[in-house]
Amino acid sequence: APLAVLADAGLEIPVLGGATVRHVNLDLAASAPALEAVAAHVVKLLPYYSSVHRGSGYPSQATTALVEDARVSVARHVGARDGDLVVFTRNTTEALNLLATAVPGETVVLDIEHHANLLPWRGRRVVVARGSIAETLAALDAELAARPAAFLSVTGASNVTGEVLPIAELARIAHAHGARIAVDAAQLLPHRRVDLAASDLDYVAFSGHKAYAPFGSGALVGRADWLDAAPPFLAGGGAVEHVALDDVAWKVGADRHEAGTPNVVGIAALARALAELERLGDAEREAHEAQLTARLHDGLDALAGVRVIRGFDDADDRLAIATIELEQGSVGLVAAALGAEHGISVRAGRFCAHPFFDRASTRSNGLRASLGAGSTADDVDRFLAALAQLIAEGPAFEYSRTPGGWCP
Ligand code: PMP
Repeated sequence: APLAVLADAGLEIPVLGGATVRHVNLDLAASAPALEAVAAHVVKLLPYYSSVHRGSGYPSQATTALVEDARVSVARHVGARDGDLVVFTRNTTEALNLLATAVPGETVVLDIEHHANLLPWRGRRVVVARGSIAETLAALDAELAARPAAFLSVTGASNVTGEVLPIAELARIAHAHGARIAVDAAQLLPHRRVDLAASDLDYVAFSGHKAYAPFGSGALVGRADWLDAAPPFLAGGGAVEHVALDDVAWKVGADRHEAGTPNVVGIAALARALAELERLGDAEREAHEAQLTARLHDGLDALAGVRVIRGFDDADDRLAIATIELEQGSVGLVAAALGAEHGISVRAGRFCAHPFFDRASTRSNGLRASLGAGSTADDVDRFLAALAQLIAEGPAFEYSRTPGGWCP
């Protein structure tokens, strides 16, 4: 692979029958393994990290600098403007929940959203996406024209179909109606550069664990005014200027929403992962993933009995994600067999996007394969071959893997 950079590349895992095979990780849209450079960075930090912000010793000061440098590099990576805040969170879900406490009015969302960008919004108005992106933009425009809203919160790319939405165009529509816009970039950011200034976005939320850093860190980046006026997301140490028993003066800025000891190692890993993606180069990464995406979709389109789920008929930009439904048989069982018999990790379910899945699919569950920077053509080929083999077994497949076979 041009970018053989994932820390799990070459991992050997056992399969049924006693053999070991090279693990094929096609579940990167859920959580991506760390980049090698990120894993090495974390290992280097572990011996010396210390308390942040108030410690007097060298390790504490170095750790504080690590967090504040990470804030600066995250801001730069996503094209933050002067005055924008970078609030560190646990993940995208927490970032969007925080933002929802700050929006002073109603929020419009699409029905294709992940639950993390559907459920937090108070005063939520849902626009059902249409068959094309063009018609969906027109529907959003009409909704905002008919009844003003304070906010539009949209995903940058579907975690079910990988379809990329035109975020700059969405920003133009929101702003034309006096609304601000947030992009849920949990899926988009690991695969495409997201730039607040260039796309005129007000906020972006994302997770480290999908962007080749370990678990536990994410960020909300964007305009300070609403966040400074919102109640502190967590009440506690670090978020205050001064506390008396009958009074408290809350800070403004990122600190206001980051009470408690931060996930220093996670934050440092997140910043390092973004820096590493920059080093690999946006164009090279995108070209590599575009090849894999085409290979994956061409292969799936050629398989009888498989239907790739789509949200839009005019989405010409897709991340390396495909969710399929099967004409026959259980995707849950096929996913389990891919793992247990072939060493291939995928995911079966409705991908925390139940309203969209239930509208777009004719079945109750889909099977998702998702790739990224360190994935290879061989990963795609092994998946396609194993899937074809399991489908070819037909009804015998289900029979041989249900009780009496290996499947519980
Ligand atoms: N939004 C999208 C589009 C996602 O794919 C996900 C994760 N599946 C989330 C939000 C939530 O991310 P996290 O679980 O890291 O909070």
